[in-house]
Amino acid sequence: MSAQEQFVKRLETDSPHLAVQRAAPLAPYTSFGIGGPADLLVVVESVTDLAQAVQFANATRVNWMVLGSGSNVLVADEGIRGLVIINATQGFEIDQNGLLVAASGVMLCELARWAVDEGWGGLQWAVGIPGTLGGATVGNAGAYGGSMAGIVCWARVLRSDGSIAQVPVEALGYGYRTSALKREHARDGRSLVLETAMQLERGDAGALAAEAASYDARREASTPRGRCAGSVFKRTAHYPAGYLIDRAGLKGMTVGGAQVSPVHANFLMNTGGATARDMRCLIERLQRRVWLLYAHHLDPEIEFVGDWHWQTSCTEVGL
Ligand SMILES: Cc1cc2nc3c(=O)[nH]c(=O)nc-3n(C[C@H](O)[C@H](O)[C@H](O)COP(=O)(O)OP(=O)(O)OC[C@H]3O[C@@H](n4cnc5c(N)ncnc54)[C@H](O)[C@@H]3O)c2cc1C
Repeated sequence: MSAQEQFVKRLETDSPHLAVQRAAPLAPYTSFGIGGPADLLVVVESVTDLAQAVQFANATRVNWMVLGSGSNVLVADEGIRGLVIINATQGFEIDQNGLLVAASGVMLCELARWAVDEGWGGLQWAVGIPGTLGGATVGNAGAYGGSMAGIVCWARVLRSDGSIAQVPVEALGYGYRTSALKREHARDGRSLVLETAMQLERGDAGALAAEAASYDARREASTPRGRCAGSVFKRTAHYPAGYLIDRAGLKGMTVGGAQVSPVHANFLMNTGGATARDMRCLIERLQRRVWLLYAHHLDPEIEFVGDWHWQTSCTEVGL
């Protein structure tokens, strides 16, 4: 019996409430709406199930990766070999001192709105970020001067060796859109965030709501509508990536169904039917043009995940 079949059997026996899908298309689980199939896919709604799915996968030697909202990834057209765990874990609690502990599958924007409504300050900047708390903890999501690094106290993580550890913020190694967890190499097995604790402060509910509304308005004015993954490139040392792409005259450029948004040059859109290859070729084209014109490297903020086995560069095939 193959390792994957052993995993399915183990899950069916020990966690029969978890349904495993085979050859499951991943596009519906990503904000780009792009991505081939996962060999196996399971959606988990509790922290216990999340930890158990990983432990079963490790025990049967099945490769696994976790996705939250899929709002910061480009999944290969060939999909992902092994198991994809969709993290829909729920639940949070806050103590009287403002320590908020939440499951990693909670949506960051929903947590932020709840905090604002309840008069807890610290998460207002996050009201428009469409990812899970786990994705935000790993990627140090941020906006309008705020970021996870500024509020996280600790994360409870499942290590690749199966141990569970409470990692204090000092050991999370936060930097701009990165962390020690993100820097762990997939080949060596990444840690999985189960829960994150954040320190909030009491504030005036009206003032917090007004601040959140101002961020909503700024997003509304600058964010293109449609299928995308937010900012595709990180800000360079000197300039926002969108500024460089715009200045290079590349707004509106297309490769197949992938397009540089005419509204915001750092947003690449799936205008309908874009493949992962279209999107990646567009990304490479932008990198090349900006490098040739301004000698600035555009470093992707999004992550390329899955089976990107094709090695031929888009330049070589003339895309
Ligand atoms: C319209 C739009 C606007 C956006 N605006 C912003 C913004 O203002 N600021 C910003 O920072 N980002 C922004 N983003 C990007 C994205 O929403 C964030 O990066 C978000 O934090 C990603 O969370 P996710 O759950 O979607 O992660 P995913 O895309 O599902 O995963 C991203 C990576 O994190 C890993 N991961 C996910 N969950 C866990 C976990 N529990 N444990 C370990 N690893 C995990 C995945 O394996 C993957 O490697 C925007 C995206 C969109 C579509």
